[in-house]
Amino acid sequence: MFKTFHPITIKSSTLISIARETMKYVIVTGGVLSGLGKGITCSSIGRLLRARGLKVTAIKIDPYLNCDAGTMNPYQHGEVYVLDDGGEVDLDLGNYERFLDTNLSSDHNITTGKVYKKVIEQERRGDYLGKTVQIIPHITNEIKENIVRVGKESKVDITLVELGGTVGDIESMPFLEAVRQLHMESGGTENCVFIHTTLVPVMGVVGEQKTKPTQHSVKELRSIGIRPDAIVARGELPLEYDIKRKISLFCNVPLEAVFSAPDAKSIYVVPGILEDQGLTNYLLKRLNIYAPVINMRKWNKFVKNLENPKQSVEIAVVGKYTHLHDSYISHLEALKHASSESKTTVEIRWVEAGDLEEKGARLLTGVDGIIIPGGFGDRGTEGKMVAARYARTNKIPFLGICLGFQLAIIEFARNVLKFEDANSSEFNPKTKHPVIDLLPEQKDIKDMGATMRLGTNKIKLEKDSQINELYKRMTIGERHRHRYEVNLDFIDRFEAKGLKFTGRSMDGRRMEVAELDGHPYYMLTQFHPEFKSRPGKASRTHLGLVLAAGKYKRKKPKK
Ligand code: GLN
Repeated sequence: MFKTFHPITIKSSTLISIARETMKYVIVTGGVLSGLGKGITCSSIGRLLRARGLKVTAIKIDPYLNCDAGTMNPYQHGEVYVLDDGGEVDLDLGNYERFLDTNLSSDHNITTGKVYKKVIEQERRGDYLGKTVQIIPHITNEIKENIVRVGKESKVDITLVELGGTVGDIESMPFLEAVRQLHMESGGTENCVFIHTTLVPVMGVVGEQKTKPTQHSVKELRSIGIRPDAIVARGELPLEYDIKRKISLFCNVPLEAVFSAPDAKSIYVVPGILEDQGLTNYLLKRLNIYAPVINMRKWNKFVKNLENPKQSVEIAVVGKYTHLHDSYISHLEALKHASSESKTTVEIRWVEAGDLEEKGARLLTGVDGIIIPGGFGDRGTEGKMVAARYARTNKIPFLGICLGFQLAIIEFARNVLKFEDANSSEFNPKTKHPVIDLLPEQKDIKDMGATMRLGTNKIKLEKDSQINELYKRMTIGERHRHRYEVNLDFIDRFEAKGLKFTGRSMDGRRMEVAELDGHPYYMLTQFHPEFKSRPGKASRTHLGLVLAAGKYKRKKPKK
């Protein structure tokens, strides 16, 4: 945090840390449409500020009544991302963690549900001493307190706040009012800037870039009392100069504060696109921070490797939301991290689990590797087992995660141990062979929200196993999200037939990793390695898969 509001006295980015006292805020709002990549804009800004030696954290505001994302269907909101502390949060927090290379806690995701729950609990306790409890000031105060507290506790210089939804939504109103007040209370523009992301569509045969939606959304924002300091305009192509000028004039922001965010081939190039237009310098100028030294070396190396592959592999992702790629976003990012580290392009073949049930394993012909990610519910499970069996019997590199881990074990029980009715008690509570069963502590749980085995737990690895070779460590910490686990009654029978449990919980009672003897890469994990994967620090198991897929492809007879 910064002590001075006044002229720049700090001479180098190392000195910045000495003068911390006042928190600075960068607030990102969105107009026109949802799904504009506000999260990536926010994450990229965070990355750029970090590259100047500043300490940065990020908060996502989701204006829905769910207390967290844990009970939400991936159909509507994409993947549920899991944090170290077990918070089940919006997938944008995954982007923040990946771009900022930091670990966040569930307090960094503020939802309407969380805020109202707290205020109503306080009202029931009598904390408001007979007052009428209202959206303004009680809800807005609670929102502001949350933002300020999270920033303070994170011990950072700058707190980024991304406001989910679109300006003009009824749901967003209390949050916009809260950040308007925060701007004033934190000392105005020197300590709090607003960045508004909008869409500039292209219309007609001549391909004219249209600014009207941007103008209207800024007007809406100004009617609430918020004046954007900068505009980031999304669009297919870079903004033309005249269009930038028009936005500047009609939206009342300086020309140097209109930034173009054209469609990019990878999210990881967005920080570079914004930096090249001077976004960081502009922000630092507004916030009165002097931090001229840029260090993007590692990031640039990561991007360069990503863009200069030496080989390519095709990996099948088998799931039941394969038309909604956001449902598997952390896997896709983990594969990109692995891709950069191994200089291998990963082409994804999306395979719908239900189609495998109908059409069989031929849908997987020619792939160099297969992933079955986590999931819930019976639908598609038989198809996923077709994939697990195909990978096992054809020695195709395979990564099964959480539900993928459990289904590969069920497939093995059915086809190798010959327990024909083997299943998880999640799908068939009456099976005689519940090789996957409810965690003992889950038996009496009735509520669905935040009650799974969640968050980071330590895992002991078996010496000289493949997983141990990948991590080069004996103990690891990875994130979890499950209610079911391998039934200990069957362990010996699996191991006798070559399916070895090479990672267990610290007390030895929970199976966390399984590998198959004699298979080049059949890696099963109960935990979710994808959540901790970062640029330059790829998930070990995803990297293992990509490397094994490369080897498999090289050995494959050429057609
Ligand atoms: N449905 C399984 C369980 O609850 C797997 C969960 C998951 O894949 N995240 O244990």
